[in-house]
Amino acid sequence: MIRIIGAGFSGLSLAYFFTKKGLPVTVVDKRPRTGGVIGSEFRNNMLIESAANGFLASEKIEEMFADIGLPILTTNTESRKKYIYRNGARRWPLTFDETLVLIFRSIWAIVSGTKSAQKGETLSAWASRVLGAAGRDYLIQPMVNGIFAQETAKLSAKLVLGSMFFKKRRKRLRGLVSARGGMGEVIQKLEQYLKTHGVQFELGSDGKNISENLQHNTFLAIDFHSAISHFANTNLKDRVLIKDGLASLSLARVTITYRNNLNQIDGFGVLFPNKEMFFSLGVLANTKIFENRGEYNESWILGDTVLPDLMMLSDEQILDKIMSDRRRLFIGDKAEIKDVSIHRWPNVIPNYDISLEHFLESNAAFASQLTGNYLGVLGLTGIHERNSQLVETYLERNKK
Ligand SMILES: Cc1cc2nc3c(=O)[nH]c(=O)nc-3n(C[C@H](O)[C@H](O)[C@H](O)COP(=O)(O)OP(=O)(O)OC[C@H]3O[C@@H](n4cnc5c(N)ncnc54)[C@H](O)[C@@H]3O)c2cc1C
Repeated sequence: MIRIIGAGFSGLSLAYFFTKKGLPVTVVDKRPRTGGVIGSEFRNNMLIESAANGFLASEKIEEMFADIGLPILTTNTESRKKYIYRNGARRWPLTFDETLVLIFRSIWAIVSGTKSAQKGETLSAWASRVLGAAGRDYLIQPMVNGIFAQETAKLSAKLVLGSMFFKKRRKRLRGLVSARGGMGEVIQKLEQYLKTHGVQFELGSDGKNISENLQHNTFLAIDFHSAISHFANTNLKDRVLIKDGLASLSLARVTITYRNNLNQIDGFGVLFPNKEMFFSLGVLANTKIFENRGEYNESWILGDTVLPDLMMLSDEQILDKIMSDRRRLFIGDKAEIKDVSIHRWPNVIPNYDISLEHFLESNAAFASQLTGNYLGVLGLTGIHERNSQLVETYLERNKK
């Protein structure tokens, strides 16, 4: 019997691959529901996602949708337009000269064989070397703000690039995919599929049933923050080398509809480079990305790397900051908030820094019993691909 602790997407996806191989599985979670941070709610004519709003399309994601009997939802054509802010929202934020520097530097890095990230190199050092300062500040920084929520100077280039360019096979689709009912519907259908295939769920259990020493058939699918404290407080501390400095970052996802929304983002969304001094990391135009998201609404993403006291701010303080950002985005904007939903997520994203790079190097063997967003791939599709390999490795090891 395979035992999986944690019923977020990481745990459910691992259970899915074991089930497909015909192994009996039990999934345990301390919360009374599955999905972890993921969930969707339809309220007052807006679909509210609590965390992720999509998967990067891949062959295995398409297969999972087919298996759980859920039609896959692709993005609207208008969402192909993506913006980065530099004195206004721009599709290409670099000047002509900066673009030339970027082209020459990247060609030189390829020709001279120096394009790969070095061990212990920060993303900032790598991007300055391979793309130049403008590429670092106005392309890479806003992109990582949207995913890793951290400054390039504090991120490991090896980890971030590895996470962004992990190996996956595409089938039919590209870009982001979801379901008509949002990510919550994917979780619901996946849980249903697992139950019909005999998977047992122990939900609302207090977490004490994680044994001190992990049995060979037990997998930890708990979030990074819980995992680190678990490793440190149990016998696992003898097996897991915990390096100093491991940290996780907090995020808030704020979804808003407006009373007089004259100004709308006509594309996927806008990312804010740190140099532009916004309070938010970026904003998504949900209704332009996928259909069936209700009336025009936006999700603003805020992080504690820009706002260190984010988790302590009141709803009013958070909304003040967002509306101030919105007035910069649309000069003199007079939109009034009609409805709002704020999801605060303390310690939700692992800091993909040099400490994590060292941690993963030192624990490569043990990591075959771990799944989650801190193991080299942050996004859901990467987690799913890695889970499929974990199952293959487990079967291979137990054949001998
Ligand atoms: C605002 C936001 C937007 C995002 N957008 C995207 C996106 O668009 N695309 C994308 O790919 N990714 C996105 N992500 C990242 C993605 O959502 C997460 O990486 C992923 O959902 C994490 O899943 P998980 O199962 O590893 O962790 P979690 O969802 O945190 O689940 C862990 C589970 O473990 C349980 N647990 C913890 N400790 C114990 C214990 N001791 N005993 C039993 N159970 C325990 C918890 O209760 C929880 O249910 C986003 C994240 C956020 C916060």
